[in-house]
Amino acid sequence: MPRLPFYAEGIKFECQGSGKCCTSRGSYGYVYLTEDDQKRFAKYFKMTRAAFLEKYCGEKDGHAFLLDPREMGYTGHPEGDCLFLIENRCSVYEARPEHCRTWPFWPENMNPKTWRTEIAAYCPGVGKGKLHTFEEIKEILDSQS
Ligand code: SF4
Repeated sequence: MPRLPFYAEGIKFECQGSGKCCTSRGSYGYVYLTEDDQKRFAKYFKMTRAAFLEKYCGEKDGHAFLLDPREMGYTGHPEGDCLFLIENRCSVYEARPEHCRTWPFWPENMNPKTWRTEIAAYCPGVGKGKLHTFEEIKEILDSQS
């Protein structure tokens, strides 16, 4: 019989606004944008999608991502922080990308060791608030495949 995943009973998670998922501890972590994300951002910034991509994004393997703020000449941004993380808060929260909305339920996070050592130990939202059922987590994971 296959073993049940460690999240078979669900996982409690509620964002505590720590901004910790928005920084990669020293090396820039890519925040990828879907087409819907790009449209949402363009609307949010009241600019065309092309202008948004030109101003804020790079491209890697055919996928758009938010540029490293240091590459854009922004000063005072700690190394590894997202471009839109200002004073430990997401400054574009209502327009934030799917990549951020699905945290911490990313496929690469969902093995017991990574979860325990890199996610639960790092993100203060894990173990708090709403219980996300196995089915809900699976749906979030499937939406990223
Ligand atoms: S867009 Fe907002 S939520 Fe996403 S990584 Fe940047 S600051 Fe964090």
